[in-house]
Amino acid sequence: MLFRILRAAAVPAVLLAVAGPARAQGSLNLYCSVQVEWCQAAANSFGRETGIRVAVSQKGSGEVLAQIRAEAQNPRGDLWYGGTGDPHLQAAEENLSAEYRPAALDQLHDWAQKQARDSRYRTVGIYAGALGMAFNPELLARRNIAAPACWRDLLDARFRNEIQMANPQSSGTAYVMIATIVQIMGEDPAFEYLKALHRNINAYPRSGTGPIKSVARGETAVSVSFVHDAVTERLGGFPVSSALPCEGTGYEVGSMSIIRGARNLRNAQRFYDWALTPAAQQLGAETKQFQTPSNRTTPVPPEAPQMSQIRLIDYDFAKYGASAERRRLIERWDREVNALPR
Ligand code: PLP
Repeated sequence: MLFRILRAAAVPAVLLAVAGPARAQGSLNLYCSVQVEWCQAAANSFGRETGIRVAVSQKGSGEVLAQIRAEAQNPRGDLWYGGTGDPHLQAAEENLSAEYRPAALDQLHDWAQKQARDSRYRTVGIYAGALGMAFNPELLARRNIAAPACWRDLLDARFRNEIQMANPQSSGTAYVMIATIVQIMGEDPAFEYLKALHRNINAYPRSGTGPIKSVARGETAVSVSFVHDAVTERLGGFPVSSALPCEGTGYEVGSMSIIRGARNLRNAQRFYDWALTPAAQQLGAETKQFQTPSNRTTPVPPEAPQMSQIRLIDYDFAKYGASAERRRLIERWDREVNALPR
């Protein structure tokens, strides 16, 4: 079914953004699952506007979920910014995040508001992006290999040892891929597909953007990636193209959540409201990240993949973001796919 939308292996980095004005407004500990350039720009900009000191720790979506779960009795983070929507829903269900109704809620696209409703207002959509396949056309031409056009193409022997996808235990991107294949094929055929794909995989990096960075450097020919990440790599001067799978594809509703028990709760709420404003959402494009922003009045950058033109599946976020289902699918992948020899 078509869904319409209207319109580096991640090394945990601890960065400090110090506010310009010398007003003591306290601090905010931000766990951030977009790329580090955007995390830093958001921290700097919010810090300048409010005088709040923002400490940033950048990690993949699955890694942040594991961290806030481990810290639940003594939370160290205040706000989790970015990353795929399913683990944010899982955090909401596990009572790891706090309810908050942001001022701009009714300015958001339906898919972003639905994310808030599905979580009983413990998370909210900040951007959307479609999953696809990225490839290095120069490398494929040198090896005389045709580019993939469909999910099933990735099983072809021509891609033996040529593909990377991230590890779903740490990466939300990789989990979106598994949930997408399950929704397209049905669960057991999907796991047969993932096992067959395993033969062609040369690595499962921790970070969702790790595979496409390897494509950019010519270390692997193909990756499973969000298509907006291919735009980022191309603008960085790398030979990277992308394809939207002929069978249709899944997508993420990138999200944000306040961590339950946040020590700097008022500052987390201020950041939550700020991050939904058009000015804050434009920082994504300014740092060359081209997801579709969730506020209807934020300009969609011309470079961004046009979500309304993409054949998206009717991704069931409530089902695949549910805690038991997400854990079960990731464990099944680890047991039945990751454990296989290659
Ligand atoms: N980087 C970008 C540009 C993304 O769109 C996303 C998904 O929200 C991520 C990183 C998340 O990374 P990971 O798959 O490591 O959780």
